[in-house]
Amino acid sequence: MQKNSKGQIQVYTGAGKGKTTASLGLLIRALGAGLKVTIIFFDKGGNFYSERKVLAKLKKLYPKKLDYYAFGTIRMVKGKGFRFENINKDFSEAKLALEQAKKLSQNKTLDLLILDEINTTVKTGLLTLKPIIDLVKNKNEKLELILTGRYCEPEILKLADLVTEMKDIKHYMNKGIPARPGIDY
Ligand code: ATP
Ligand code: MG
Repeated sequence: MQKNSKGQIQVYTGAGKGKTTASLGLLIRALGAGLKVTIIFFDKGGNFYSERKVLAKLKKLYPKKLDYYAFGTIRMVKGKGFRFENINKDFSEAKLALEQAKKLSQNKTLDLLILDEINTTVKTGLLTLKPIIDLVKNKNEKLELILTGRYCEPEILKLADLVTEMKDIKHYMNKGIPARPGIDY
């Protein structure tokens, strides 16, 4: 990033597919340019997210430039399906994720911080809006901040410099095709 350039606030939201993968694409581009990047996955416990396997390898290649954290419980249980209701651990994990995000948003050596699914946590009641707004408002000026997830709150949209809404025009899930490893997670 150009020295002293201001970091922008980007939001990827909407019901269409492509929010998390867009942020991962940006992560790769930024790494390629020598930027220092961290991604925090909110409410994404478990190890079935395929991108994490690559991030683990990339972290070894770029130990000083890349870091990632995942918080949350496992919601997908074999034979039982997806658990929508929150348990106590979901709340404590979301708090930990937010604390980590707050800390990193102040880090002057970091160029890009991605908060994956942070938007969704307000909708699902895991986090309140206020501390997220405070984080966005008080971030280190040079940090590029990405917030992903459906249902982005209007107050966050107001603070953003870029908002992309993934619009759901067609999705194979409506034909009954389930989420597929390597494509959807
Ligand atoms: P992606 O991670 O592919 O970029 P996204 O971040 O835009 O997608 P999310 O809302 O986070 O979208 O959903 C994660 C993934 O789960 C997406 O790839 C999406 O195609 C898939 N998905 C979402 N809802 C369903 C569903 N009801 N049935 C099957 N797959 C779904
Ligand atoms: Mg996503």
